[in-house]
Amino acid sequence: MTTTTYPSGTGLSRRSTLIWRTFQVLVWLMGLAILFCLFFYPELGIDLFWNLLIPLAPALLVLALGVWRNLCPMAFTSLLPRHWGTSQRKTLTPTQTSRLNLMGVLALFLIVPLRHAFFDLNGPATGLLVLSLGAVAFGLGFFYEWKSAWCSGLCPVHPVEKLYGLTNRLTLPNAHCGACHQCVRPCPDSTPGINPLSLKKTLTQKTSGYLMAGAFPGFVWGWFQVPDSHGVSSWGELLGLYHMPVMGLLASGGLFLLLNRFVEEKRLIAVFAAAAVSCYYWFRLPALFGYGVFPGDGLLVDVSAILPEWVFTLATVALSVFLFWWIVVNQKRKASWVVRPAFARTNNRRT
Ligand code: SF4
Repeated sequence: MTTTTYPSGTGLSRRSTLIWRTFQVLVWLMGLAILFCLFFYPELGIDLFWNLLIPLAPALLVLALGVWRNLCPMAFTSLLPRHWGTSQRKTLTPTQTSRLNLMGVLALFLIVPLRHAFFDLNGPATGLLVLSLGAVAFGLGFFYEWKSAWCSGLCPVHPVEKLYGLTNRLTLPNAHCGACHQCVRPCPDSTPGINPLSLKKTLTQKTSGYLMAGAFPGFVWGWFQVPDSHGVSSWGELLGLYHMPVMGLLASGGLFLLLNRFVEEKRLIAVFAAAAVSCYYWFRLPALFGYGVFPGDGLLVDVSAILPEWVFTLATVALSVFLFWWIVVNQKRKASWVVRPAFARTNNRRT
């Protein structure tokens, strides 16, 4: 029998570990409460999930990705078997990891357009989606080592993390991995400046990398050109959900490939990342407060009778300028999302 030794664990003191665990449990319970609302108080659940939590997430990914990586309730669900000592801790080959990454990107592009017709206005449908993803995350955590299969593999949010978090500046302790078993290489958590095209040796890696780095901003723009509806009644309506996002995706991806011939790739990825997140808030922020392109869609609080539209125009312009400065201009220091814990001395993983 092989024994695994943890030289110094996460490097966290007992007190720090307790504090992180407390926050992880609290955030997980908040997620559970939102899930409960989605099923039993759908209007409130939709507001909490789609109109509060999700609009805050991109800003968190840009500004403090380590906070998200440590506290994400889906990650906590996936890593429960590992923390309980019941995970089978299998390893993935680099090819398998790349395939999972590509599946995560494709899942993102497939699921997000469905929001307009199936999830944005339907609490139980969103709840079922979250439950299904949670079950997959838990299952993968049960079989595979640490974050390899879900958090850094199949999770559809992970590609967005790699795009938006490329100029991370705040490095936090790793509040999950007890010791580093090098479950994924390069470890996205521990590699400063990692981006969607950090690995592009294989066709799978190139496809997922270019889809995120190049095509994603156009996809985001296209998504906001489609109104919400209560379901679809034909194949044509279903395809209509994808039409504009795919058009945007193709235009943006083509532009990226063209510019890639003349502009340094890392700089170009940063510009496209800033464009994607700015585009998101350009449309999303006014919509939250009653000035959306499609009135009522994605509304949190209607303040149109109190505040004039120019307030939100000014806010979105200011936010876009800040995001371009943060992601593109001020690149002096790139930090890893979290600190890599000490390497485990021995390994008893299964393949
Ligand atoms: S720190 Fe090590 S064990 Fe944790 S996710 Fe990264 S590679 Fe895997």
